[in-house]
Amino acid sequence: MVQLNEGKNGIFRAIVVDGKIIGSISVERNAENRFEGEIGYMLLTEYWSRGIATNTVSRICRIAFNELSLDKIVAKVFESNAASFRVLEKNGFVTGSPVGVMEIRQVVKRSETPADNKRSGNPSPVGAQDIKQAVSTPAHPMIISGPCSIESEAQILATARALAKIPQVTMLRGGIWKPRTRPDAFEGRGEQGLVWLREAKQETGLPTITEVATPEHVDLALKYDVDALWIGARTVVNPFSVQQLADALKGVDVPVFIKNPVSPDLNLWLGAFERFQKAGVRQLAAIHRGFSYYKESPYRNFPMWEIPIELTQRLNVPLITDVSHICGNRDLLQTTAQKALDLATDGLMIECHINPVEALTDAKQQITPDELKTLLSNLTFRAKNSSSVERDLANLRSEIDDIDSELLQLLARRMEVSSQIGEYKKRNNVTVVQMDRWKKILEEHIATGSDLGLSPQLINEVFEAIHQASIEQQSHIMEKGEDAH
Ligand code: PEP
Ligand code: MN
Repeated sequence: MVQLNEGKNGIFRAIVVDGKIIGSISVERNAENRFEGEIGYMLLTEYWSRGIATNTVSRICRIAFNELSLDKIVAKVFESNAASFRVLEKNGFVTGSPVGVMEIRQVVKRSETPADNKRSGNPSPVGAQDIKQAVSTPAHPMIISGPCSIESEAQILATARALAKIPQVTMLRGGIWKPRTRPDAFEGRGEQGLVWLREAKQETGLPTITEVATPEHVDLALKYDVDALWIGARTVVNPFSVQQLADALKGVDVPVFIKNPVSPDLNLWLGAFERFQKAGVRQLAAIHRGFSYYKESPYRNFPMWEIPIELTQRLNVPLITDVSHICGNRDLLQTTAQKALDLATDGLMIECHINPVEALTDAKQQITPDELKTLLSNLTFRAKNSSSVERDLANLRSEIDDIDSELLQLLARRMEVSSQIGEYKKRNNVTVVQMDRWKKILEEHIATGSDLGLSPQLINEVFEAIHQASIEQQSHIMEKGEDAH
């Protein structure tokens, strides 16, 4: 949405997709009743059924309630216009009295105490789109972006303002309480940060999400009208903490996004979902942020794509891929985000900071809003329901890529150890090739390989090639030593 014109009696916006104006939307104050507004919008037909109207209606209602101090927004819809009815319904509009061929629908403002409203179990009317609905719109995945940590009012406001101009961005993230590996590091701004996050939301209309790790965090986040909560990877490993959070959310209608635990343990992740489900939390989503791994890898957290895929096969929940915490650096973000989309993720979480190099946490992986814009426009969004064949193939290819990457890491490690052996042999005057040892090893590999269904020829060729490369490397070490003398 782009701001075209504002006044105290109306909010008027153009709807812009990929730099092109594709429609307009407005909420105008009613001349007779200053607390009532009327919404109207139009969208070029080729942009219908993509979730754009639902999203923009949600955003303009938030802005209009805040800026025009309305109690109620009504919409007049021709009875035959089923699409508009659906859009309004998803945004909490309810049917009012029919007038001629039109029907008035209205949405009412949330109570002044959103936490109480959510706690009462009443689904909050404005913008409380079912997250499943929000993330399952074909070709329009949920994009959650914002800084790793909320650091200052200026930082979150500048970041949010820039993000609100990127049409694909659907939600604003910001860490308030930061789980740090070592003490004495920046641990977040706490309650003060929530005041700024709420300000950013009121100004931009973007719904917000933050991490909660204790029941006190839950209460504070709800008090400041945060729209959705996520449970961090370090919290999900601890069933006691997860249970406390689930208890704190009993009877609260707020979407909860559950990150995978730091360890690659599918059951622990599933268990967290079960605890929230039992507590009656209806809107649940998964966030895949990769796993701690003992082997070296180019990633900060190894993706192990098969685990989130397995999770979504077991549970019918939307899956968001947190590419920032998987990658740990900016350079891998683009390819990893594309891979996630190819594997049919429902959305992406990407950390974004107005000035990443100065960030107090996760400086290496955050990008500027401009970089995010470029990254998003370079992605290919595939229609999710297009072809299960394509998706299955993408899954399998991704597994192959992961295995190849592991093979490469292993080969590099093998060469490293082999070079250490070379140095050792040189110091102790031992010959490079010890034929007997190699023959024995190769026989053992062929036997183990055939137990695993691998042909002797394959084992022979692969290990001969590896062995040959090791011998060449060791000979080189010996010669180098002789030259130096
Ligand atoms: C974060 O999102 O900033 C964060 C701390 O994430 P995780 O729990 O995945 O490490
Ligand atoms: Mn982070």
